[in-house]
Order: sequence, then C-alpha cells, then structure tokens
Amino acid sequence: MWNSPKVGILGGGQLGRMLVESANRLNIQANVLDVDNSPAKQISSHDGHVTGSFKEPDAVRKLAETCDVITAEIEHVDTYALEEVASKVRVEPSWQAIRTIQNKFNQKEHLRKYGIPMADHRELVNNTPEELAQIGEQLGYPMMLKSKTMAYDGRGNFRVNSKEDIPEALEALKDRPLYSEKWAYFKMELAVMVIKTKDDVLSYPTVETVQEDSICKLVYAPARNVSDAINQQAQALARKAVAAFEGKGAFGVEMFLLEDNSLMLCELASRIHNSGHWTIEGCALSQFDSHIRAILDLPIPPKSLELLQPSIMLNIIGGATPDSHLTATQAALSIPNASIHLYSKGAAKPGRKMGHVTVTGATMHEAETLIQPLVDVVDTMRA
Ligand code: ATP
Ligand code: MG
Ligand code: MG
Repeated sequence: MWNSPKVGILGGGQLGRMLVESANRLNIQANVLDVDNSPAKQISSHDGHVTGSFKEPDAVRKLAETCDVITAEIEHVDTYALEEVASKVRVEPSWQAIRTIQNKFNQKEHLRKYGIPMADHRELVNNTPEELAQIGEQLGYPMMLKSKTMAYDGRGNFRVNSKEDIPEALEALKDRPLYSEKWAYFKMELAVMVIKTKDDVLSYPTVETVQEDSICKLVYAPARNVSDAINQQAQALARKAVAAFEGKGAFGVEMFLLEDNSLMLCELASRIHNSGHWTIEGCALSQFDSHIRAILDLPIPPKSLELLQPSIMLNIIGGATPDSHLTATQAALSIPNASIHLYSKGAAKPGRKMGHVTVTGATMHEAETLIQPLVDVVDTMRA
C-alpha cells in the first residue's frame, strides 16, 4: 500500500464532499478546512478536520500540520498562506498555478504566451466610464465586462450591450478589479476535464455544457453533434492550456465552439469542476478519483478516463421556493438510470447548487429521452 497518506482539502462544499467520497473508498483520510458540518465534513468522521476558512493563514497553517499533501476545491484561497506552507507540505496543484488562475485576467495573460486562442480583452485601470467607453470602441458591442477575481456562476460578469449600459455595468461590478472581453459568438460551449500527473497530461472526452443565467444547467457527455476532429482538437487545446501550469491534479477547461468550428478558451479552473460530475457514472475513474490519484502519484490508467456510456448531468439549483430542489429530487427518483447526488448544503437559495442528477443511456438519444421529464420539472421551478 501507500503508507496511508493524509490529504488536506481547502473547502468543504460539494466538490470537497465528492473528493472525500473518492478518498474514503481508498481508505485515504481527507482533512477538510471549512466551517463545522460543511458538506464534506458530514461524510467524514475523524478528528483531523480544521475549523475555519481557506482565506485565513492560521487555518491553512494548522491544516498543513495535519497532512502530507494539500489541495483545494476552490481557487479563491489564500495563496500566500499556501506559498508559506509549501516548504513543509506538498501543495497540488502549485500555489503559483492557483494564484495565476484565480485572477482571470492574469490567467489569460499567462495563457497568451502559450498561444492559447481566446477572446480579445482589455484591462481596466481606473474603472471610469470614459475608460470603458474607449475599450468599447476597440472591442465593439456587445462586450462582457468581467471581474478579474472572485468570479463564479456568472457573478462577476456584466453584458454591456451598448455605450448606454456603461454606468449600470460599472455600478454592478463596483469596487472590483475589472477587464472587458470581446463578445464570443459561439454555437456551443464545450468543456474538457484534464488530469495532470507527475509525468502526463491526460484528458476526459469533450463535453457540451449548457449555461442558463450564466450557471451551468446541463452537461452532455459526449458533446452532441460534434465531430471526432473537434472532440480531439478540444482535448488537445485543454491539455496544452493546463500544461502551462505547475502542479498535479484535475483542471476544468471551458471553451467556446465558434460558428467557423474554431475553438477559443473561455476560462480554466485549477480544480475538479461541475462540467466533470458526469464522470462519476460515465467513466471507470471519476474526476474525483483521478484527482486524488494524481496528487498522490498513484497510477491512472488512461483507459479509465474513456467514456463508458453516454451521460447527461443536470444541476439541481435552488429555485423559486425553498423546497424547489426537493421537488426536482422527488421527480428524479422515478427516472430510470438516474443517479442522484444531493450535497446537504442546508437551506436552498435561488441559484444555489443543491445537487445534481446524472442519467446514462446506451445511446445519447436514450439518455435524452429518459432525462426530459426531469428537465421539464426543473424548468417549471426556475426562480
Ligand atoms: P464559472 O461558474 O464557470 O466559474 P464565471 O463566473 O467564472 O463562471 P465565465 O465562465 O467567464 O464566468 O462566464 C460564464 C458564462 O458567460 C460562459 O459560460 C458563457 O456562457 C458566457 N460568457 C463568458 N464570456 C463570454 C464572452 N466573451 N462572450 C460571450 N459569452 C460569454
Ligand atoms: Mg469561473
Ligand atoms: Mg465559467
């Protein structure tokens, strides 16, 4: 065996919880840094957890004392604390990778050096209407104004349709560091989970993601009506982007497929990712299994990342009423081939990810037919 290594996880939300599920099956102790009773801690009973936040240096130091390798379920962590503890404990992926990636503008400046295609963009220095108007002249309208940091689920993005929207856009993203992106006229959004190991960069098949109100709603694995050539190109682009960073583990790469079939990077995450939840049922090794193995230098047979069966993942998101997500879950119980994952996050809020359901089928058509009644239920409960 591998001498029972202990893994420290910054963050105990649903991603940490699913990492713990994978660690548990290998008898690997996962020490979680988050508030007491966070979703990951609920399924992991031992005295190695740390109470606190991944933004508190003291809490990160305390976690480092309890484990052999530290990883994170989120990129918005204190990378200065990680830099400090990296002399005593392994940090995967590297604090440098997390620091660069957690700032979307720096991430893009870094990836530009590696020839990764992406939407043209401009940094704002003063956040004034005049400055943004000048950028609007250069990029054209619509354009997407984005916060460089602390962005998730579209909270940090504002679509600027014309010069008239500028005051509202700057008000919506007030006091945040900003950059603006040229509009990407995509016909589809694709994503690839990449696993970086000590000597390889592996990838899962290309999937199609559907965002509603900037939140991931559905993931189709494999991407529908996408040629094998595009599937391969997307995987190659994702691997090339991830290879530009130091460290081991899972990375989620989001891309736009444009009208002319060319690909552009949307953004990259230094962690397990919502677009990879389907791998729990769709592949022999899930993204969570692979992440644990990658950071501990355990073998990952590339064949185990291949698609076993077409899979569709639907997020269960807090809706119009506090129990909307339970209505969706109730409906999912009767769907054949549906695996339900609830995150035990407590009270639902509109837009909050409460769980997900993955439906598999012998064909994509079968999976689509099976999941449709559930999609209909979810659509009627939208906030
Ligand atoms: P995540 O939850 O994935 O971290 P985020 O808040 O970091 O989301 P992005 O991934 O940058 O935000 O953007 C969210 C969505 O907004 C994208 O999936 C896409 O649908 C849309 N979007 C982002 N940038 C552009 C663009 N330049 N042109 C058109 N649409 C865009
Ligand atoms: Mg993001
Ligand atoms: Mg995104």
